[in-house]
Formats: sequence, C-alpha cells, structure tokens
Amino acid sequence: MSQQDILSTKKIATRFIHAGAEPDPSTGAIMTPIYQTSTYVQSAPGVHKGFEYARSQNPTRLALENAMAMIENGKFGLVFGSGVAATDAVIKLLKPGDQVIAANDMYGGTYRLFTKIFEKFGIRFSFVDTTHTANIESALTPNTKLIWIETPTNPLMNITDIAAVSAIAKKAGALLCVDNTFASPYLQNPLDLGADIVMHSSTKYLGGHSDVIQGALVMNDPALREQLYFIQKSCGAVPGPMDCFLVLRGIKTLHVRMKQHCENGAKIAQYLRNHPKVGKVFWCGFEDHHNHDIAKRQMRGFGGMMSFVMKDDSIENANRVLSSTKLFSLAESLGGVESLINHPASMTHASIPREERIKNGLVDGLIRLSVGIEDADDLIDDLAQAIG
Ligand SMILES: *Cc1c(COP(=O)(O)O)cnc(C)c1O
Repeated sequence: MSQQDILSTKKIATRFIHAGAEPDPSTGAIMTPIYQTSTYVQSAPGVHKGFEYARSQNPTRLALENAMAMIENGKFGLVFGSGVAATDAVIKLLKPGDQVIAANDMYGGTYRLFTKIFEKFGIRFSFVDTTHTANIESALTPNTKLIWIETPTNPLMNITDIAAVSAIAKKAGALLCVDNTFASPYLQNPLDLGADIVMHSSTKYLGGHSDVIQGALVMNDPALREQLYFIQKSCGAVPGPMDCFLVLRGIKTLHVRMKQHCENGAKIAQYLRNHPKVGKVFWCGFEDHHNHDIAKRQMRGFGGMMSFVMKDDSIENANRVLSSTKLFSLAESLGGVESLINHPASMTHASIPREERIKNGLVDGLIRLSVGIEDADDLIDDLAQAIG
C-alpha cells in the first residue's frame, strides 16, 4: 500500500499498521531496518541521498516521523529523545519576555522544566485552571506567545476544550500546543480541533511496552516545522534508531491495545466507584464528570488512566493500598500493557511544591492507576484484596 493510499483511508486500524511503513528501498525489508549509523557516504562533496549526518537525518527516525504525522492527522512529525526533550524544543521557539499560559494541573516534569529551567532565561509562565477557558482569556497579555494544555490531565483527569482554547489562541496570535500523551492519537487528534502542535511522550501508549523513552511533536505549518527541525538538529535531543524502531512497532498495535485499555478502564472505574471504602474516583468517562460532555465530543473513548482517594484519605492508608497490590506494580510511568499503581504526591508529582499541589486538588492520599490490558477480573480481584 502506498503512503498516499494510506492517507486517503480514514480507518484507524489500517492507518496505524501501515503508517510510515514503506518497504526498505535497498532490500525490500517489510520492517524499516534499524539504521545504526552516524554518517552517510557522499559520492562527491555535497552529493548524497538526503542523509548527511545522523543528528540531522536517519532513515529509521524518518519512517517514525512520517508515521507520527499520519496517525495524528498532521503534515509533519519530529521525534525526540524523550517527551520532555520535545517540550523543551517547543519552549525554545520563544525568547525572553514571552509569556506562556499553561495548565495548573499537568505532568510534574513539564512544570519543573518550565519553572526551574526556562524561567531563569526570562520566559514567563502563568499557570491557570484551563478547564474554565475564561481563565485563559483573563491571563492573556500582549506577550502571550504560547498556550500549553494537557487533556486529560495527569493525574486528576481534568478535561479542557481544545477547540475553544484554539479559538482563543488564534485571536491572541499565540500558538496552542496540546500534550496528547494520556489520550494517544487513537482517542484524540488535537490538530483536527485547531491546535498548532501536538506533543507526545511516546514512552507511554505509543511505545506501549515500557521499554523506551521518547517524545514527539506533530504539526501542519511548514514554517513551524522548519523552526522546530532547526531546534531539533541544533540542540541535538534526537532518539537513537533502535528506539525509533520500537515506537514504530508499538504504533502497529496501538488501536488494539487502546481498545482494551478503554474496556478495562471502564470496568475498574465502575468497580472503584461502587466500593464502600473508596472516596472520589477521577475518570473522564463518568457521565457526571464535570467536563464529560467535552470529553465525549473531542475523544473517541476514555482510556485506562484514573485516580482515586480512599474514604480514609490518610497518607498511611494510601501507602497501605499502594504496597498491597500484586498485579499492579508500584512504579512511575503509564501506558504500558501491564498495570501500574502510583502515588503522585511522592512519585510523579513530587517536583510540584505541596501547597501548589493541594491547591489544585492533588491531595496526599491520591492514588493513580494506569490500567493495563491484563484480564479485567484479575485486576479487580487484585484491587479488592489491596483495598481490603
Ligand atoms: C511522561 C510524560 C511526559 C514526559 O515524557 P518523558 O518521555 O518521560 O520525557 C510529559 N507529559 C505527560 C503527560 C507524561 O505522562
């Protein structure tokens, strides 16, 4: 199937399996080989096959970048050595004095990068609750150059209306970047809703097997692609070809994995909600979730990420549950085939000051689940014995 034919099919399963997968031109290999090389021989000075030096171009990376563009309904993909390296490249579009409006409930590492690294270079960050888009409008200044949102958010599963924020960004002449890690391209495509850049931690659902660290950006505007490519090659946070191969392979099963994550996620969210010892459960698939209507409009399903607090919401009780699961492994990260349990306050979100965290609803007793694709009944049995 030619890449043109694949582009013209709207069916996700076909796209995900064939995206970026041209047979290797030198041998016909159906899987793009791992081009483990640093440089490429030129037949005369400046005469080459489009590849000069592997920080700038690598065929395995190129296949993945094309695949990323295709599965996010974008024109261009760029991949990076990690999700935070991809975020770092976006902020490097800015200069001192520029302002970024960002969500106040997002990945702890993004918050750390913004406040601990980029603030000292004179870039200003305003953190607001983006689930109410009016907060973004009131934070706008003539220097606002970028709006950064995450939806659903990590770990409170808040939903922001991407199309509404995109309209605000366009009016203000600012770029909108959406961290689409939690939804994955299977559940949500922010470019279709007006975003300028989609960012992914490919470490999570895209890789899908907890065996790689990688990040990606997808965009439509060729000028923006040129600027970001320039940053990618100048700053050098590129992934190796082996890692690109792993993510290419992950993408081929993304749709089947996501279907199961959604199915298991729904069962477990319901189970927790009905449990007499469990307090609030945060999952955007509940009909009474405060932004469920928006989630339903902009997502194709609700995924396997959720968090909850016990009715006894002491840190001791949370620790007891966190240390008692057997199938759910206690670990940072998410999006792999195996289920993980995590304590945001001391693990993934420890870099956010406690009072900031609590103000935004991330209490000490909050427990986050990344529901994997094991048998849902086994996962429920495991939670039952851990909750006790
Ligand atoms: C993990 C994660 C990141 C950072 O990605 P890395 O690949 O770990 O650098 C950014 N955003 C979200 C939502 C994440 O879960």
